[in-house]
Amino acid sequence: MPTLAAGRDVQALHRAAAPDFFGWLEHTRAAGACTRPIRLAGTLTAVESGTGRVVEQRHTDELPDRTLYKACGNRRAAQCPDCAWVYAGDAFHVVRCGLTGGKTVPTSVAAHPVVFATFTAPSFGPVHRRHIPRHTCADRRRCDCRPAPCRARSIAGTCPHGQSAACFARHDADDPQLGRPLCLDCYDHDHQVVWNYFSGELWRRTKQAIERHLAALCRRRGIPHVQVSTDSGRVRRVPPVRVSHGKVAEMQRRGAVHFHVLLRLDGVDPDDRDALVPPPAGITVDDLDAAVHAAARQITVVTPPHPDGPQGWQVAWGEQVDVRRIGASDGDVTDGKVAAYLAKYATKSTEITGHCSTRLTPDTVDAYADPEGNHLARLIDACWRLGRPIHHHTSRTVAPAGERQAGLDTTPNAYAGLRRWAHMLGYGGHFLTKARRYSVTFGLLRDTRATYRRAEHDDTADSGDAADTVTVGTLAFVGSGWLTDGDALLANTAAAQRRERRRVGREELAHEAWSGVAA
Ligand SMILES: [Zn+2]
Ligand SMILES: [Zn+2]
Ligand SMILES: [Zn+2]
Ligand SMILES: [Zn+2]
Repeated sequence: MPTLAAGRDVQALHRAAAPDFFGWLEHTRAAGACTRPIRLAGTLTAVESGTGRVVEQRHTDELPDRTLYKACGNRRAAQCPDCAWVYAGDAFHVVRCGLTGGKTVPTSVAAHPVVFATFTAPSFGPVHRRHIPRHTCADRRRCDCRPAPCRARSIAGTCPHGQSAACFARHDADDPQLGRPLCLDCYDHDHQVVWNYFSGELWRRTKQAIERHLAALCRRRGIPHVQVSTDSGRVRRVPPVRVSHGKVAEMQRRGAVHFHVLLRLDGVDPDDRDALVPPPAGITVDDLDAAVHAAARQITVVTPPHPDGPQGWQVAWGEQVDVRRIGASDGDVTDGKVAAYLAKYATKSTEITGHCSTRLTPDTVDAYADPEGNHLARLIDACWRLGRPIHHHTSRTVAPAGERQAGLDTTPNAYAGLRRWAHMLGYGGHFLTKARRYSVTFGLLRDTRATYRRAEHDDTADSGDAADTVTVGTLAFVGSGWLTDGDALLANTAAAQRRERRRVGREELAHEAWSGVAA
């Protein structure tokens, strides 16, 4: 649209020609790369940190555009590419610090046994797929190997709906058919969205089972439990090993989530429960590997009865749980590659399935849900239908971990949350989660960045901010987005120039990770 672009260029020219242009550019710097920054107005007060004395007070009316710009902070690359990029960087550091130490994590963690496991969903019906049985390419990044036929069958047969059970296509990597069921009517959409919904609970119980397996192993090997004192002052005996994890959810093309999880063995310090210490020498990476496999096979969540599924649904892992060792002798999977790989998924959501919408409401759901429609429309329909208000008389229900605050026993329909998460095809969890002890927090990284930015700012402009003051704001939301498309162009361009060098470095690493780990 040439008129739009022309309008934008005129806006940009006006802004750039204004006398305070460089002040404006500096002012918007913190949000410079954001697609839709948040605009705030109100009072900013600089307070001396020791005494609480007010050093300076300013109203945002005195600032360029009379507002403060704050990056939207959206984690999803489809919503705001740059905020997602910042988030991915934080995710990378969170994951990596848990592997190598750094920031507040002791570097001794690098010696703890670690595995990188992928937990997948089971099959809910055959889908079109692309698989390369054996790679002959030299460089996986430029793989040109021929995929095998999708679903070759010698006796093809048809389903009750007349669809062939075979597909001889060798699908391209970007074939929109991939992940779509061979027969939409045979496919169990209900089971899949229920699986997504309860997958967090399945993971929670699996992790408990892993720790139980290891505790039992310690007992058999005569490794003593450790006495720790609880917050209430009582002494308790606990197993000498525990597992800390960092986990990323990945939405597959078929619309089922699976989890990539780093599991690290830690020991227990009897004097300081929060200390990160090595596990006892008698427990090794082999034991961790075996415990993961055993737990994944063992744990099944049976969900509560529902009128559309009177027995409930079985929620268990798919047959294959892939467990890899980090830093193993083949040198294939390294700390940096795994961290980059997880960080990449942390910024994604349902985009791969072709679905990308915000939370659905009774007014908008009809545009997406259709019991007779395509794969996605049927998944969203299943969420909406199973989540409908119903009243049944069970007193005990299970609900995914994230829904617990809603009140387990008072929830009339244990599946009600499926409506809330229909736009996520039932998955209501976070895309990146970690155990408290696993690594540094996102908050710490954000604080560090804010401090760094302030220091950077002090160097380049005479802001008058003393190092020992904190700025307190009473700010109100006044809007979101840039004032004009021209402003967006200028701020984004400046930010892109600042970041270009850093971005290139990191993307190379992520790309390497993609081909190295996803193999
Ligand atoms: Zn943003
Ligand atoms: Zn196919
Ligand atoms: Zn290949
Ligand atoms: Zn069928």
